[in-house]
Amino acid sequence: GIRGDKGVRNEKEVAMKPTEYLYRALKLASCEWHLLGCAFTCLILATGSNLVTPVVTGHVFNAIKGENRDEFIYNMKIFIGLSVGSGIFGSLKSLCFRLVQRKLSFMLRNRLFEGVIRQDIAFYDASQTGDLISRMSWDCNAMLQPVSNLLGTTLQSILFFFGGLVFSFFISWRLSMLAFTTMLPIIHLTSKYAVFSQRLNREIFTFIGMANSVAQEAMANIRTVRAFSTEDHELDRYRQETREALHRGIRDALANAGTIFLSNMIDYGASILILFYGGLLVIYPKKDRHINIGMLYAYLRFWDMIQSSYQSLQGVMNSFTKAAGAAQRVLSLMDSLPDIDPNSGRLAEDDMPWSVEFRNVYFVYQMRPDFVVLKDINLKMEPSEVCALVGPSGCGKTTLVSLILRYYDPTDGKILVGGRELQDFNLKHLHKSIGYVSQETQMFAKTIEENIGYGLEGKYNQSDLIEACKAANAHDFIMSFPSGYQTRIGERGVRLSGGQKQRIAIARMMLRRPKLLLLDEATSALDAESEAMVQQSIDSLLEAQDRYTVVLVAHRLSTVVSANQICVIDKGVVSERGNHETLMKLEGTYARLVGKQLEKSKNMLYG
Ligand code: ADP
Ligand code: MG
Repeated sequence: GIRGDKGVRNEKEVAMKPTEYLYRALKLASCEWHLLGCAFTCLILATGSNLVTPVVTGHVFNAIKGENRDEFIYNMKIFIGLSVGSGIFGSLKSLCFRLVQRKLSFMLRNRLFEGVIRQDIAFYDASQTGDLISRMSWDCNAMLQPVSNLLGTTLQSILFFFGGLVFSFFISWRLSMLAFTTMLPIIHLTSKYAVFSQRLNREIFTFIGMANSVAQEAMANIRTVRAFSTEDHELDRYRQETREALHRGIRDALANAGTIFLSNMIDYGASILILFYGGLLVIYPKKDRHINIGMLYAYLRFWDMIQSSYQSLQGVMNSFTKAAGAAQRVLSLMDSLPDIDPNSGRLAEDDMPWSVEFRNVYFVYQMRPDFVVLKDINLKMEPSEVCALVGPSGCGKTTLVSLILRYYDPTDGKILVGGRELQDFNLKHLHKSIGYVSQETQMFAKTIEENIGYGLEGKYNQSDLIEACKAANAHDFIMSFPSGYQTRIGERGVRLSGGQKQRIAIARMMLRRPKLLLLDEATSALDAESEAMVQQSIDSLLEAQDRYTVVLVAHRLSTVVSANQICVIDKGVVSERGNHETLMKLEGTYARLVGKQLEKSKNMLYG
């Protein structure tokens, strides 16, 4: 059976394990190892001085209480040294981590765009641009958070947490045992909240993503939205999605406040207990249980350290799971490779005969695996000849042309160019010799000249440009603009009319001096006058046709009368082949189509 069995190698939607995420993230980060090494060194030094500071402060207190001047001065010196050190290393640490984050985000974004832009056309059939954009912006950021700044916070918090534990046990294990029993309910409470909040946040991102899709679609189709006055409808759709996100956000905020309130209460209780029991230990010294006032102070500081580092570890865990989710969306995009490699294969020779041959070609779109678009196509387009494809809309003409461009590979059968298999050619090189005007012209938000010279990187001279534009019947209207060739045409060329865009597309094709021209219904979407203009430019191309092989998908049959070969395609098969005279004699589909168009033009004249 002929089916799209390759499957779109688009998304491998298996959840990424946090360990795998960690591995991939560290691998990415490892190219900045010297910066990271610097950051970690500063981190350890800064954390070390922070950890020792409470003890030194305690000694200062004791010296004050004992009115011991020398000890006071000595400890003050150490205190000042530690403060300066932690200030310097702390800011150096932040600087390094920030630099790492910026550099990684630069690298990741560029690698990601490269992964996206090189994808097969089939990939784009299956994807949504809004989704791809949000992966390149939002997910990229979320994925890198832990690698850079959180990595620092995490390590620092771990150091504080365990360091604080060791020091506090060292000062008084009795106090510590007491304090820790109060921590258990806090741990329980916060982990409950973390699970809850994670689920809510996941839902919020989904709804925001859907809201973005609504907005993006509405903006891209703004003219239809305006014409049908559906602004309110679009606003409603957008509001619905964002409201869902809002509701979850409110629930998250309330749960968060509740958790904070409860754990604060427990915290205060713990501090009261520590202060009370610690105070007793200071006031009623027993043999092995005595601590002095300075150490009680230091103990409270350590306890504070333990609690706040526990809280920040909690936050880190949250962003870590978030990051693993984002990483999955980013890395699956970066990992998926296109089936069609444009860089390998043989180069097309200059004197190659530009014939195109279809041999038993079948084609099925992967997105619609049950529908065979092209069935057993056999065609030969001879070098320097014009081959016209005609047939009702939806019969597969555009599909046939896109197979010549190798947007897709045939599901079965072969396509030969110059007698050699299309798949053997270096696609990048081959495309230099192919000129293409698509059914829907695509323009960039640049100047007219930049649009026409697109991809040539300035390697043309001004006279070639003007010649191409004259051949495309575009020079006059371009010159009628105040800025001429430097006119900016807006996003997707919105500042031009359909016919003007089409003529610019033809000029763009001509400037590349192609050997094989593919024209897909270049006049289909136009009014009579601009159709005549575009038609004229195509006709002048065809008159000089000994230079090109032309594949022409025509909507107006007057264009195809002079073609060397006309192929009628009907429901994916070539139903008739020959030139105008032979097909008219056949009195089949072609003759019927011509009859219909004649009738229509008569009606237009007399009706
Ligand atoms: P034509 O250019 O002759 O009007 P097309 O080649 O564009 O027709 O389309 C042929 C058939 O393939 C149509 O039925 C269309 O619905 C289907 N089709 C076109 N493009 C795609 C695609 N990217 N994915 C799935 N089906 C498609
Ligand atoms: Mg088409």
